Amino acid sequence: MTLTYDPQNIFARILRGEIPNKTVKETAHTLAFHDIRPLAPVHILVIPKGAYVTFGDFAAKASAEEIADFHRTCAAIIAEAGLDAGYRVISNAHDHGGQEVPHYHLHILGGAALGPMLA
Ligand code: 5GP
Repeated sequence: MTLTYDPQNIFARILRGEIPNKTVKETAHTLAFHDIRPLAPVHILVIPKGAYVTFGDFAAKASAEEIADFHRTCAAIIAEAGLDAGYRVISNAHDHGGQEVPHYHLHILGGAALGPMLA
């Protein structure tokens, strides 16, 4: 699988400030914002600022600092969103994973009972 990063993808354009977003949290290496088509009462997308296509790409190539910053940001969002009753974290990759935007992102979903994952 070749992982050529497309700098015109929507999340790259959000990172450059070309498209507005509803920011939840921003750090040195990470941006989190509300999904434009929420699938749950809480639906937040978390993206690294670096140019990574998928979870595998990010996990293989990002620095330890980027990886720690990304996951600590996710943890802070989960705590601050009040998802004590539970939540789901998903990352889609490539065609079989149903990835729409080719910039690595996690979906944080919660705020209601989500049911079985593949229902
Ligand atoms: P994927 O299928 O790639 O995992 O999910 C991409 C997500 O990005 C979808 O849930 C979609 O609603 C969201 N999305 C697509 N375009 C935009 C946009 O311009 N702004 C925001 N905030 N979310 C977007």
